[in-house]
Amino acid sequence: MPTEQDTSRLKSNRLERHFEDSKPPYSAGEALIEADRCLYCHDAPCVRHCPTTIDIPKFIAQIASGNTRGAATTIFRQNMLGASCARVCPVEEMCVGACVYEQFNGQPIAIGRLQRYATDTACADERSSGRPLFTPAPPIGRRVALIGAGPASLACAAHLALAGVEADIYEREELPGGLNTTGVAPYKMQAESSLAEVEWLLSHGARLRAGVRVGEDIAFASLLEEYDALFIGVGLGRGRTLNLEGPGVWGATELIRAIKTEEGFALPAGASRAVVIGGGNTAIDIARELALLGVTEVTLAYRRREAAMSAYAHELAAARRCGVRLRENLRPLAAVHRGGALCGARFQEVGGNDVVELACDLLAVAAGQTTGVQALGAGVRCNADGTVWVVPGTRRTSLNRVFAGGDCINGGREVVDAAADGRIAAQDMLAAWRSEAARRKRNG
Ligand SMILES: Cc1cc2nc3c(=O)[nH]c(=O)nc-3n(C[C@H](O)[C@H](O)[C@H](O)COP(=O)(O)OP(=O)(O)OC[C@H]3O[C@@H](n4cnc5c(N)ncnc54)[C@H](O)[C@@H]3O)c2cc1C
Ligand code: SF4
Repeated sequence: MPTEQDTSRLKSNRLERHFEDSKPPYSAGEALIEADRCLYCHDAPCVRHCPTTIDIPKFIAQIASGNTRGAATTIFRQNMLGASCARVCPVEEMCVGACVYEQFNGQPIAIGRLQRYATDTACADERSSGRPLFTPAPPIGRRVALIGAGPASLACAAHLALAGVEADIYEREELPGGLNTTGVAPYKMQAESSLAEVEWLLSHGARLRAGVRVGEDIAFASLLEEYDALFIGVGLGRGRTLNLEGPGVWGATELIRAIKTEEGFALPAGASRAVVIGGGNTAIDIARELALLGVTEVTLAYRRREAAMSAYAHELAAARRCGVRLRENLRPLAAVHRGGALCGARFQEVGGNDVVELACDLLAVAAGQTTGVQALGAGVRCNADGTVWVVPGTRRTSLNRVFAGGDCINGGREVVDAAADGRIAAQDMLAAWRSEAARRKRNG
């Protein structure tokens, strides 16, 4: 069984490297000017809209006073994935959308970009000075296994390692980071940044065992026997295909993964028309990515009206600015092939009798993902939709000593939700061990 993992195995010839950063980093001067605009609100609405409740006015004030290291520490204490969240969080719907400047039709504070400035600057300084931001506590004699090396497990493992817990992460893939490495749009964050963050997180003492699929290479039950606690952070399962198959037809997440991580991957030669099926953020992401890669006609086909789309309005607006066109009320019927090659996608018009055919040489299906936790053979209680049931305040599952977090409990939200789950589960484990130790001491 493979053990420790070298995280620098990413190939350089990847299609994602053609993308430019949609929100480039601030210079020190830009960060100071932006930080100086903050009103340092009491009971700040931006904090209430952050799932990890970072003290945003505090870290902005620390930037404004030149204490970038302090700002980064404020961020990481609440969210160990503060560097990737600074790049990928839908801030328009969270902290930035809640900023009081919005009430005066003013320009809200660019909280994400300030967070990126603080975390990137402090981590670079940590590397060059050799002065760590955090020092792990001495070992406390506890061991935790974490399943999956996505944001949820990584956050949990980092908090545990800092508290002196031995944390072993089991990941089925060779590359760690979960969807931060393989899914997030390359104009927000590329795989290198995700892997650099993983290395930083692991530098606090957690160990990665890559290429190990729990439920197949190692049994869930044997992990439970070996460790004091388990954390399930396996994300979601495969994408739904809607029975659309054949050459030129892709699952959206598989296509994005290929663009981000596969060496030498290229779109079909001469591909000029693409159809993307779906109305969520993954559909928008792949549509925008294809348009930015030079596909001239990208159509998003959705089965309802625009107002019913689960995608964020700001993401749809950005895709439109890249030339993506939306067609509403189209229910997919079939992929159309001629001479073995894809030539179109056929739809039934919803609320009408027409069958519509959209010509295309690439079809991407973004119809959501199934849940994958059943494959673990863990026997945890699940909700009706297949997500893992947890106690909300602690992330404990129905099994003693087993916790869960991230997409596998919420059905697919954001990186910041996974980071929050990881921290909450770690804090609950530590609190339980502390009270157990206190009880033992009391009882002699
Ligand atoms: C295309 C796409 C774009 C997205 N863009 C954004 C964005 O811009 N901003 C944002 O905030 N969120 C975004 N998200 C959502 C975000 O990526 C997820 O919410 C987040 O990654 C969830 O973290 P996780 O740790 O729960 O799961 P994952 O990131 O899915 O990680 C789970 C890990 O578990 C591993 N695993 C699974 N089963 C096993 C097993 N049996 N044994 C060992 N390992 C296993 C997997 O290989 C994977 O590495 C996006 C999602 C998608 C699909
Ligand atoms: S709401 Fe806006 S102005 Fe107020 S503290 Fe938060 S970022 Fe600063």
